[in-house]
Amino acid sequence: MARLRKWRIAIFMAVGVFLAGLIMFVALTCYLASGAEMVPVLMYHELVDSSEKESRYSLSVEKFRDHLKYLKSAGYSPITDGDLLFARNGGSSLPFKPVIITFDDGSSDHATLAMNSLAEQGFRAVFFIITERIGQPNFLNRDQLRTMHNAGMSIQSHGHTHRRLDRMASDKLADDLRLSMEALTNLLATNAVSLCVPGGWYNEDVLNSARTTGYRLVFTSDIGMNRIYGSNPILKRLEIRGGTDSGGFKRALSPMGIAFNALIRQIKLVGHMLRGNS
Ligand SMILES: [Zn+2]
Repeated sequence: MARLRKWRIAIFMAVGVFLAGLIMFVALTCYLASGAEMVPVLMYHELVDSSEKESRYSLSVEKFRDHLKYLKSAGYSPITDGDLLFARNGGSSLPFKPVIITFDDGSSDHATLAMNSLAEQGFRAVFFIITERIGQPNFLNRDQLRTMHNAGMSIQSHGHTHRRLDRMASDKLADDLRLSMEALTNLLATNAVSLCVPGGWYNEDVLNSARTTGYRLVFTSDIGMNRIYGSNPILKRLEIRGGTDSGGFKRALSPMGIAFNALIRQIKLVGHMLRGNS
């Protein structure tokens, strides 16, 4: 009998999660399709010179160039995090269909494969740097970062050590965020304004520490679109994985694709919590 009761509870919970997910999916799709003033943020990692080297975090430069061509043909205008802050502060309005292209981790291919592809379209992007790794093998060095900055790219923080910020003691958290800010300020003679949280993990402590260190925007791995105006510092992104072709890219940007991927991530996070990994 106890076993039967357990099964009933499990089925009840599964149906509940399914219905909640369905409601969320429909509501989010309608909201995203409503045409409110929003900006998508694309999340890329490493670029590689051949599709044979692709993995979740490695996309072929050929496919990346196709993504950029699609953005141009569909009328998107890439902006930076600085442009978003400027617009939010009443500085100027943003172009029609703004999009923010971001790269995580600061691998050395960004100075060549990413920069060349962006230059072909006259696009700008935001690069999140693990500041402890600047100049290490396979990572961007100081000269490359300065060159990218001077070419109009936004160079921002991905933490100093790339460790999970939400699991750090408060003094270690503050140190990590401060050291990263200082490294970028010393390198580029301008303060970083954005923090991209390693692994997408954050909590209230991380948000508070980021704010007190001087970061004004926090880029996450939460999936969704972002309101252009308002004061929410937390930005959601759309992960573009290795292997994503033009069709997959269009789907990832569509209201239904965003709602579907957001739902899958929520289900995964619930599973993660249920397994006891907070
Ligand atoms: Zn990362």
